[in-house]
Amino acid sequence: MAGLDESLRATLGGKAAAKLDAAFGLATTGDLLRHYPRRYAGRGELTDLASLRDGDHVTVFARVEKVRTRPMRARRGQLLEVTVTDGRARLALTFFNKVQFWERQLAPGRHGMFAGRVSVFRGQRQLAHPEFKLLGADDAAKAAEYAAELIPVYPATKDVSTWDIEKCVKIVLDTLGELEDPLPEALRQRHSLVGLADALRGVHRPADEAEARTARARLKWDEALVLQAVLAQRRRAAAALPATARPASAGGLAGAFDTRLPFALTAGQQEVGADIAADLARDHPMHRLLQGEVGSGKTVIAVRAMLQVVDAGGQAALLAPTEVLAQQHFRSVSDLLGPLGQAGRLDGADIATRIALLTGSQPAAARREALLDAASGAAGIVIGTHALLAERVQFADLGLVVVDEQHRFGVEQRDALRGKAQGARPHVLVMTATPIPRTVAMTVYGDLDVSTLAELPRGRSPIATHVVPAAEKPRYLDRAWERVREEAAKGRQAYVVCPRIGGEDGAQAAGEPADPGPEGDVLFGSPEDEEPGRPPLAVLDVAPALEQGPLAGLRLRVMHGRLPTDEKDGAMRAFADGLADVLVSTTVVEVGVDVPNATVMVIMDADRFGVSQLHQLRGRVGRGTEPGLCLLVTEAPEGSKARQRLADVAATVDGFRLAEIDLEQRREGDVLGAAQAGRKKSLKLLSVLHDRDLIVAAREEATALVDADPDLAGYPALAAEMSALLDEEQAGFLEKA
Ligand code: ADP
Ligand code: MG
Repeated sequence: MAGLDESLRATLGGKAAAKLDAAFGLATTGDLLRHYPRRYAGRGELTDLASLRDGDHVTVFARVEKVRTRPMRARRGQLLEVTVTDGRARLALTFFNKVQFWERQLAPGRHGMFAGRVSVFRGQRQLAHPEFKLLGADDAAKAAEYAAELIPVYPATKDVSTWDIEKCVKIVLDTLGELEDPLPEALRQRHSLVGLADALRGVHRPADEAEARTARARLKWDEALVLQAVLAQRRRAAAALPATARPASAGGLAGAFDTRLPFALTAGQQEVGADIAADLARDHPMHRLLQGEVGSGKTVIAVRAMLQVVDAGGQAALLAPTEVLAQQHFRSVSDLLGPLGQAGRLDGADIATRIALLTGSQPAAARREALLDAASGAAGIVIGTHALLAERVQFADLGLVVVDEQHRFGVEQRDALRGKAQGARPHVLVMTATPIPRTVAMTVYGDLDVSTLAELPRGRSPIATHVVPAAEKPRYLDRAWERVREEAAKGRQAYVVCPRIGGEDGAQAAGEPADPGPEGDVLFGSPEDEEPGRPPLAVLDVAPALEQGPLAGLRLRVMHGRLPTDEKDGAMRAFADGLADVLVSTTVVEVGVDVPNATVMVIMDADRFGVSQLHQLRGRVGRGTEPGLCLLVTEAPEGSKARQRLADVAATVDGFRLAEIDLEQRREGDVLGAAQAGRKKSLKLLSVLHDRDLIVAAREEATALVDADPDLAGYPALAAEMSALLDEEQAGFLEKA
């Protein structure tokens, strides 16, 4: 009797093993048994053929409707054309050889599974030379037996059909012996989970839906517990690393800063600030994620933390995702600190420190000075883009790294900066304005402590959001521009955001290569592809059209990632200083930009942006005393998914809710047989969206296990699964490198 680490070659033979390896990278019996059915089909069930998409590899259930042979046009010989149906839509199957052989089997009325790649020929969807398996048998007894059975439908490819996999799985299951269970007995009892062998049988060959459900529930636990145990170990290891304690002290910069603040901190800010202050006072590194809506006051918290470190004799680095943001941080931190950041200047305070700005494209002299200030320790605060990670940047005593907008910053980059603190690790604070649902944070950022700023500072004005259907109701668009003019007449300002720069950039990119935005992230990925009718609107086309058209007479400025740094800075500064009425730009204004006088945000081709990104963009307005207005301009037709997405954004300002909608949409389009791209390999059954309670419970169990037995020596099967997961992650990193 075999375990889960037998090679498939030994169990199934070389040919089948090679195919499974090539198609799915399956090497062992365990790999195969963890290749779960995507779903189960009852007998007689038919696939909705109208939903098939060109190019997808699919497995469909359908009934043969008619069969005909005809001579081929271009070559000699016969062609067999079989039409299958789901009762409404039709799909053509074409066979080019052994025509009589196929014709004998595919009799009208037969039900079967047909697998292949969908193509469109003369406007009709077809599968050319599909693999197929007919269901049911001619004699009634066998048919009845079939009726009771659920047919597992596996992720399949052109070379390996779902019924090939079914056959291999059956062979492996039949030889399966005793299995060591990675889930501890006590845990299984607490959560009423079946054993591993039963679960594997139940997931692949369930007698009924209930058995399949029970099996899947148990197997989800495997995924959740293994991942959470890895994260628990990681947290434990990180907590054991040495760091220099940077306790708060009286009479320093931090205290002076608090008295300078023109407002009172919110309760949330105080609470999170106290947590961070306590973290920094420990001699183990802080790893904390601070999330809060745009404008919730994260920057103020970060500055207080940095000053505490400076007071304790260390330095702090603040990393921003773009140069524009680094510059803006530099200005706003300089403003917040006033004389406290002017050491060595006439107007500097006695206890003052210096703030250095380091970006990739600054003039050599300024750069040299900043580098010197960082290396000598004269600059307590060093602000920059990832240029800060360059080899040549040295710190005298780096105590804290603040990373703004985590999802634009890879883990590798965080690690590189950590390496800049000699010996001890710096404390790390990561800030993000994209609200991350709790279970996602637990799964993806599970090695970080998470703080959330839930309330916005008082005095924040409401933002009204409306969808402007430009194609159906051009008058609404006219009205939108009128609104911009009205606001400008009152001395206020507007943003117009376009998905593309224009000019030389071709028609392909939404967003900017140097500034990919949350769209590039795995979890906050781009919206599903909808056939682009025309290229997305571009800044360089829209700006002149507005200038000569509906916004004639207003002062427009243009900004995008291809402008030289000083022009970007100039445009942003002019807008911030009120010297421009309208800023036409790409998403470079997305994060952190703060112009309280801006009240309108017009987003062109809004359907080209993700839900979270739209939410971020609209956070740019309503930052002052006047209410904000966000207009989502789109040509997406009424009733389309894109329109629904925009309606969702218009309907709520709850960033967490929108983050969940964002997630939900990424689960869609899972047509039978379509590739499961994007999902983390180790999470086959577990859904960070739908299995919240399970993930929370697994985290608790894992933390308790690791606390009691850090190396999990008493749980060899669990430890083995964990190292397999780590190997896989490692391999993933290597592939990316
Ligand atoms: P975030 O970084 O989270 O987007 P910021 O820290 O930039 O938010 O704060 C946004 C604006 O609100 C800034 O102008 C800041 O000075 C102001 N602000 C921060 N905290 C408060 C507060 N407690 N009360 C009033 N205004 C605040
Ligand atoms: Mg900010």
